[in-house]
Amino acid sequence: STFSYAFDTPAYKGTATINTGLFIGGQWVDPVEPATIDVVNPSTGKAITPISAGSSKDVDIAVAAAKKAYKTAWGLKCPGVTRGKLMNKLADLIEQNIDEFAALEALNGGKAYGVAKSVDIGGAIAVIRYYAGWADKVQGKTIETNENKLAYTRHEPYGVVGQIIPWNFPMGMLSWKVGPALATGNTIVLKPSEITPLTALKFAGLINEAGFPPGVVNIVNGYGHTVGQAISEHPVIEKIAFTGSTLTGRKILKAAAETNLKVVTLELGGKSPTIIFDDADLEQAIKWSAHGIFFNMGQCCTAASRIFIQEGIYDKFLEQFTAIAKGLGDSTGDPFEQGTKHGPQISQTQFDRVMGYIESGKADGAKVAIGGERYGEEGYFIKPTIFTDCTPNMKIVREEIFGPVCAVIKFKTEEEVIELANDTVYGLACNIFSENSSRAIRVAHALEAGSAFVNCAQATEMFVPFGGFKQSGIGRELGEYAIDTYTQVKGVHINI
Ligand code: NAD
Repeated sequence: STFSYAFDTPAYKGTATINTGLFIGGQWVDPVEPATIDVVNPSTGKAITPISAGSSKDVDIAVAAAKKAYKTAWGLKCPGVTRGKLMNKLADLIEQNIDEFAALEALNGGKAYGVAKSVDIGGAIAVIRYYAGWADKVQGKTIETNENKLAYTRHEPYGVVGQIIPWNFPMGMLSWKVGPALATGNTIVLKPSEITPLTALKFAGLINEAGFPPGVVNIVNGYGHTVGQAISEHPVIEKIAFTGSTLTGRKILKAAAETNLKVVTLELGGKSPTIIFDDADLEQAIKWSAHGIFFNMGQCCTAASRIFIQEGIYDKFLEQFTAIAKGLGDSTGDPFEQGTKHGPQISQTQFDRVMGYIESGKADGAKVAIGGERYGEEGYFIKPTIFTDCTPNMKIVREEIFGPVCAVIKFKTEEEVIELANDTVYGLACNIFSENSSRAIRVAHALEAGSAFVNCAQATEMFVPFGGFKQSGIGRELGEYAIDTYTQVKGVHINI
């Protein structure tokens, strides 16, 4: 069945229409066992629409459709040039519908409409185009062995890949997964987050129009413990890519190990540090530090939730950083109002979780410099929050909060701050501010993280590999590295 939402807001006026079913084998279908999930608007806490919720039975059907498509119309049967062409067409179609996509992302995700349009949807279009460009450039090597032999490598697709994505960047994460998988010739069974499925459904509605053979892309909505688990355990799925919590990542790795040893890519949580040395460009450091923790209401895996400030600039930094957080808090509101910069947390569960961390910070003796409370009466809004006087063993310093909450710690020396920053089980990203480039590079190399940003913060680019050290994940996405992630190498040996 279809669902239409009429937007009559300052940012966007128009109607967005989606199909709320499961998209399998190029068709909209109902789940084998009828069930629905209510999708909620986080700005109000009210239901938007029910959508279909699949089960393992629907995953079986989707995998069969994906396998058939792989064998007959995609994979090694479809030249890279053609795959790239279809992907470019898909990107064009998303662009033609960008306002509707952005409106659905803002409605379902609580993101400011303008940000949803430029960052989330604009970014997703760019990623799909980038990988469309790779589709005819996946190449192996020839390898010298001896004069009587020719050897070369081929980078072949896995076949059917399973993809499970979170709610913080619904279209962004979808594009990171779908782009390289399609470019390399895999077929897909993707499960969006049950919390934010609307743009994935809109996306599914464009697959046939773009001209993909049926079964190349299948979107199966549903819960993690049903659809997600069925994907992780499926014996025909050769590879799985997941973004979300470390806890779920463990379950997926275990399921993969206990079934068919499918190859697993995991993008998990983080507790990324921002380090500001005395010699930093203060204005830039403050601006980026705010972006580092407060962008997307702190709901980023690379959120820099620990901020280490060298003692010489501590007071000055804190004063101006707090002022920025206050300004951001003052621009809290409905994502469709002009001037809104800060929206709600995604769900009641996340709201409760983040408020729980704020309470624990207070109980542990950290001081609230700004924020520390909810905003408004309805929806899941939390004010940008800065804790000072934090010590390394506090929960707010150790655990991923996934909200607009940061812990500030004062430090004296480079050696000390490297030690402090690496004192975490996570290793996703780090941000370093210093005008001394030798020091900045030295520290970037010393920190245990998959991405190091110097004089900027969580400024991920699609051309550069992205992924975690330590418990932040396994494998890499983005850039050329994602081509390796979605292919398996065959060595061909020929006697001549
Ligand atoms: P989650 O890991 O539970 O959910 C992410 C995805 O995994 C969703 O699609 C979910 O349905 C699915 N899933 C859940 N259980 C599963 C299972 N047993 N098998 C297979 N798939 C399963 O994350 P969440 O509940 O949405 O958020 C909880 C925490 O996860 C957050 O507070 C944050 O710490 C972290 N998180 C991290 C990221 C990131 O980008 N690294 C994104 C979202 C959430």
